[in-house]
Amino acid sequence: MNKEIKKVIEKHNFFYDELDKIMIKNCPICKSTNIKKEIAKKDRYGFNSNYDMCMGCSTIFINPRMTKKGYSEFNIAGIHGELLQAKNAHKHKALSLEVSQKMLNSFNRQLDYAKEVVDFLECSVKSKDKCLDIGAFTGGLSVALKRRYGACPFIVEPDKKAYDYAIKQGVVGSNLLFEDFETSKKFDIIFLCRSVDHLVDPLSSMRKINNILNDDGLFYFDFLNFNLLLKKSKQMRNSFKLEHPYAFSDISAMALTDLSGFTIIKTQELEYVTRCLCKKSKEKIPKYGKESKKLYNKVKNRRGI
Ligand SMILES: [Zn+2]
Repeated sequence: MNKEIKKVIEKHNFFYDELDKIMIKNCPICKSTNIKKEIAKKDRYGFNSNYDMCMGCSTIFINPRMTKKGYSEFNIAGIHGELLQAKNAHKHKALSLEVSQKMLNSFNRQLDYAKEVVDFLECSVKSKDKCLDIGAFTGGLSVALKRRYGACPFIVEPDKKAYDYAIKQGVVGSNLLFEDFETSKKFDIIFLCRSVDHLVDPLSSMRKINNILNDDGLFYFDFLNFNLLLKKSKQMRNSFKLEHPYAFSDISAMALTDLSGFTIIKTQELEYVTRCLCKKSKEKIPKYGKESKKLYNKVKNRRGI
């Protein structure tokens, strides 16, 4: 654990080993009890977060895991952003920047990212479409959709500083976790960018997304793909970070969409990230035992066991 990470821990009194945790018995996605224990025992920052893997759908999850309240506090205080900067402190000067400069940098990065997402969508966004941007952070994607298409974005973001920055850029929204977001509105397109692995209960959240999406609506999500990380990271623990209670692969992402009533209609694989565009369909029971075994064998080979 580097000294910058230790400083973040002390600043927030975030002593992970002492926090309340819950033990998970069934896979949080497919509910299988066929779980391989302890495929990794630490994350990339050095926290003692143990990782299990489901052999029914290949979902990897922290077990035992912080409570929902624990993750709420962790996200609202923006601890994960500080950990990320502390981990990469040797690469850039983010730690010494003022908050306003950090937010501006993040917003500009999000505008660049938005261009790529919009290209991937191939102009599926229409003028006046109601868009929901979950985990919007500084709102770069929503601002880009508004500027380019005249769309009407609504953001949901738990980090107070990032949310305030987004609102100043002219979007509207709610400053809370998506798990606590309630609405009677329906949306034409919903974005869950780099956020699915942050959710404490992704299946419930994806079903909630399905409920608030119009029948002919589109749902976009992307995630750090464990399968791609495994191929490229020198150490397996680099694939895991505490802010992600889950590590998804192509297979577990399909299991998650099957169970939440979505079909993936388009995907794109980047260096570490996979993009998925989905439409609504009937819920299906995922059957990915064979694929999960293959992924587990890769994990075993990497660990040399
Ligand atoms: Zn499972």
